Amino acid sequence: MATVFVIGAGPAGLFAAQKIAQAGHEVVIFNRDIKPGGLAEYGIYPVKDKMKTGLRKQFAKVLSLPNVHYFGHVSIGGNSPITLEALRQFRPAAMVFAVGAQGTKKLGMPGEDAAGVYSAKDYVYHYNLLPPFATQNFSIGKRVAIIGMGNVMVDIARWLMLDCDHAKPEEIVVVARRGPFEAKFDEKEFAHIHEHLDRKTFNDELQRVKDRVTAVGQDISKVQAEMFPSLVKYPDQPPISPRLVFRFLSTPTAIHPGADGRIARLTVADNLLVNKEGKIGAKPAGTTEDLDIDTLIFAIGDKHDPSVGLPCASSGYVTNPDAARDCAPYEVFDPETGKLWEAVYVVGWARNASEGLVGIARHDGEVGAEHVVQYLAGRQDPVAAPVSEIADFLKRKHIRFVPKSDLPFLYAAEDNETKARGLSWFKFSDDDEMLSVIERAKACSPELVTSNAL
Ligand SMILES: Cc1cc2nc3c(=O)[nH]c(=O)nc-3n(C[C@H](O)[C@H](O)[C@H](O)COP(=O)(O)OP(=O)(O)OC[C@H]3O[C@@H](n4cnc5c(N)ncnc54)[C@H](O)[C@@H]3O)c2cc1C
Repeated sequence: MATVFVIGAGPAGLFAAQKIAQAGHEVVIFNRDIKPGGLAEYGIYPVKDKMKTGLRKQFAKVLSLPNVHYFGHVSIGGNSPITLEALRQFRPAAMVFAVGAQGTKKLGMPGEDAAGVYSAKDYVYHYNLLPPFATQNFSIGKRVAIIGMGNVMVDIARWLMLDCDHAKPEEIVVVARRGPFEAKFDEKEFAHIHEHLDRKTFNDELQRVKDRVTAVGQDISKVQAEMFPSLVKYPDQPPISPRLVFRFLSTPTAIHPGADGRIARLTVADNLLVNKEGKIGAKPAGTTEDLDIDTLIFAIGDKHDPSVGLPCASSGYVTNPDAARDCAPYEVFDPETGKLWEAVYVVGWARNASEGLVGIARHDGEVGAEHVVQYLAGRQDPVAAPVSEIADFLKRKHIRFVPKSDLPFLYAAEDNETKARGLSWFKFSDDDEMLSVIERAKACSPELVTSNAL
């Protein structure tokens, strides 16, 4: 049986690990964060307790497999003492990269470095208490522009208008390149924030873009029924503060900082809609307008992190260009040499950045794992280094890794804090604190410490 390294313990990596382990192979997982779960732990909206608890149980089941080993708090790549090349010295028979989409996407316009300009993922990590984002400063002003019209925009607007633990903004402006029919969020998610939508301003906005929407054959009178059903159900809902407004057919083109270096205005270019074989796109109309904005959050999807060390292009990590037409490519391909990186795979959001919900990432991890299992069938690879050798290597590099046997101590400490503070959930938000909580808990309950920690 072979040893496979899985890098990243989000849904894609964990479900890939499960499949590979169930086929009888040893699996060693390396995860940047102390806790497993990726965006399921640090992205999904904080109050979705039921979903998060259910997923945590499934992840714990994966980690409980005796042939699955876990090194939490171990980042792989150029920004870490453990590069991808360093991993090869342990002779894994295959490696599966499930590192998600950790790069941030902006639009490349002037002023993007101004204070008060954030990427959605960083902000979502912040309010979901992922170190080090949890303790970074994400100050929010009075008028927040969120760029993008998907579920992540809804989550952020919901957090700012309903659940944040600081002063709420006065207004959130959703800025969208295309029109109301191209909104990508789910009705169920929007239902959480519909009460804040200023009905009058929304209807005025529909009138403002009516001609351009009609020009591509869309019927503006159907927007409410088809895209915003809560407006049909509750047409007379008086706006609740903070106010939510939409600005359709607008591409941000420049950020203007004020004297304090913080964003003060946003220039948006007006767009026309174009219908290209049924696909609605946007093109500049030639006019612009400035909006008074003091905070801007890009919610336009994420991209790959080039520092991991996999070959990458602008579209993401490069995968097999020769994969059969009906077969998604999972093997990593090096365009410089024109060859596959044998036995190296990508799955989940690392393969398709920001693509779909947990179920999709799980499926992708499992399909990728099937490719790995097929590749390994009948092969006689050199024996991989034992897990203890990897642990010794990490210790020599002064990396305080967290094995799976330490995780229950952390979860128990968080449960205790949740109860003691009378909260519905509590998370430690600092790596050093988590590491010392684990050490303290182990010292207090030595009888619970397993002899074979790995
Ligand atoms: C704001 C937001 C809200 C969402 N809400 C929902 C929802 O309500 N329901 C739903 O079903 N889906 C939701 N999703 C989608 C869901 O979270 C993703 O589909 C899923 O998490 C993607 O899984 P993944 O394993 O590919 O990547 P990720 O979940 O991003 O996991 C990547 C893992 O790789 C690790 N990692 C990263 N870099 C390295 C490295 N260099 N070395 C080692 N490890 C590394 C990270 O620590 C992480 O554990 C949401 C996503 C976002 C952004």
